[in-house]
Amino acid sequence: MTRAAPPVRGNAPRIGVLSLQGDVREHVAALYDSGAAPQQVRRRTELEGLDGLVIPGGESTAISHLLRDLGMLEPLRAFLGDGMPAFGSCAGMIMLADEIVDAGVPGREALPLHGIDMTVRRNAFGRQVDSFERDLPFDGFREPVRAVFIRAPWVERVGAGVTVLSRDGDHIVAVRQGRVLATAFHSEITADRRVHGLFVDIVTGDA
Ligand code: GLN
Repeated sequence: MTRAAPPVRGNAPRIGVLSLQGDVREHVAALYDSGAAPQQVRRRTELEGLDGLVIPGGESTAISHLLRDLGMLEPLRAFLGDGMPAFGSCAGMIMLADEIVDAGVPGREALPLHGIDMTVRRNAFGRQVDSFERDLPFDGFREPVRAVFIRAPWVERVGAGVTVLSRDGDHIVAVRQGRVLATAFHSEITADRRVHGLFVDIVTGDA
């Protein structure tokens, strides 16, 4: 963390930010701003006792293999299977999927954590245009969100229990299943805290 941690309320939910690779700092800041107590998670034992977990954007293949090498892959799948709330942006969305299309080179591919009944295509927009931003409607928000896409995935299939929260044209770019939330875009790099606020409300049972 590069900035001083602001005071956190005693009852603030403890939300881990998986800190192996990716835009960790931005998620930590967004969580503080949303009233949570963020904690960086770099090892298996730090997964214990969390109220929720954020999987940041970055490179899903790198994060996957670091998780495996650190013995965190199966514990994380088990926590998700037990109902731990989670929020993944971009690479994090890819990893929260049940199934990943274009996961990467065998042996170095992105590995699914099975948090949401969905199929995600990695680097889906990347074949069209690498990075772009636009305002998108988001279910439950009065004003659109500024969605920043960076070599982003999209969702190709969702199961019956999955709610679609946002689309870019025909492509699904934000979803929720129970207490697991995923966006193809990086809400953490804008000043708009509504998506992190939604996740904190999911963690506390207010959404
Ligand atoms: N393309 C990246 C991946 O496959 C995701 C990019 C991002 O998180 N901005 O993981």
